[in-house]
Amino acid sequence: MSYKNFPMVPRVIFGRGSFNQLSDILTPKRLSINAPFIFLVDDVFKSNSWLTSRIPLSYDDKIIYISAAEEPKTDQIDMLVEEIILNSKERPSGIIGIGGGTLLDIAKAVSIMLTNEGNAEEYQGWDLVKNEAIYHVGIPTISGTGAEVSRTTVLTGPERKLGINSDFTPFDQVVLDSELTKDVPKDQWFYTGMDCYIHCVESLQGTYLNAFSESYGNMALELCKEIFLGNELTNTQAQEKLMMASWHGGMSIVYSQVGVAHAMSYGLSYLLGTKHGIGNCIVFDHLEEFYPEGVKLFKEMKTKHDISLPKGLCTDLTDKELDIMIDVALSLVPLWENALGKNWKKTITRKKLKSLYQKM
Ligand code: NAD
Ligand code: ZN
Repeated sequence: MSYKNFPMVPRVIFGRGSFNQLSDILTPKRLSINAPFIFLVDDVFKSNSWLTSRIPLSYDDKIIYISAAEEPKTDQIDMLVEEIILNSKERPSGIIGIGGGTLLDIAKAVSIMLTNEGNAEEYQGWDLVKNEAIYHVGIPTISGTGAEVSRTTVLTGPERKLGINSDFTPFDQVVLDSELTKDVPKDQWFYTGMDCYIHCVESLQGTYLNAFSESYGNMALELCKEIFLGNELTNTQAQEKLMMASWHGGMSIVYSQVGVAHAMSYGLSYLLGTKHGIGNCIVFDHLEEFYPEGVKLFKEMKTKHDISLPKGLCTDLTDKELDIMIDVALSLVPLWENALGKNWKKTITRKKLKSLYQKM
């Protein structure tokens, strides 16, 4: 047996208001006055001076606002990298991503592509990155994806939706300031929070489970129950706990895998552009046969928070379109293997997936 030797985020600062220490964190990392820090910021904050006025800009440092309306694309990364190279006197000192999973993934991918030749799509897969990325910092403003700790950056390319999974992908520094999540709209809070919950269920029910993943998965699952089903927490406590649930949920899948909901949700996302959090919820709602306990609790959480999920997404799809989704889902072999074991193909046929998609 050969075990995987994974890197982790080497530095993390946790605490409400810790965002104010960003200047202290970045200053020692500046390579020269000509090597700027580039802040990639969710454009939801564009007119939010509460946050943007605290971004420490010096010399040629720049903020680039990016919309999170769509999930990151490989050509978007290539264009950003080109823009940064053309507009910087020297290679940047660092890339700082401020936002949800979308901005965190963009920051990771840009920092990799600044030091690796070619286009982002060439690196979708496992361990294809050759050179160390430039210094990159992740600052989540919504909790759940675990993108702040993970070893991947999920990108949609011309061929597929697949992560750049590599030892150079994880952030060098993460800032966990739960205050940054205070204005997340309720539905989005639920969808992204459920991404974390689903990570836990899929990891804990998976065949790849081991004590490393289990311990993180259990911690995150307990936190999710407290946050989404309990009545005791103040807003601040709930925000802090969800931030840690996201972290632990992400740690849990570093050493295992996700499962059925993620595989099928990637299909929805590829064909229809359905975003990750809500897509996972739409799929997970129909997965009682795979995750009976998990789906039961999920439905309780949905009711408690008065969330109604879109229906009929796949009703009018042609066979050809359904086939595209099925192909994307089936290509994610490790996810199926984790969910159902080596013989997953006995349960998961094209017909089975079609009938599941048609319920959504
Ligand atoms: P997101 O980044 O797509 O943001 C969702 C919405 O919330 C956006 O409209 C955004 O503008 C808004 N938002 C974010 N912070 C806010 C705040 N503080 N106040 C108000 N609005 C705010 O959401 P997400 O669910 O965190 O990320 C989804 C993405 O993460 C997908 O692209 C998915 O592929 C990726 N993902 C990556 C990993 C990984 O390990 N790399 C894991 C899971 C998901
Ligand atoms: Zn996820």
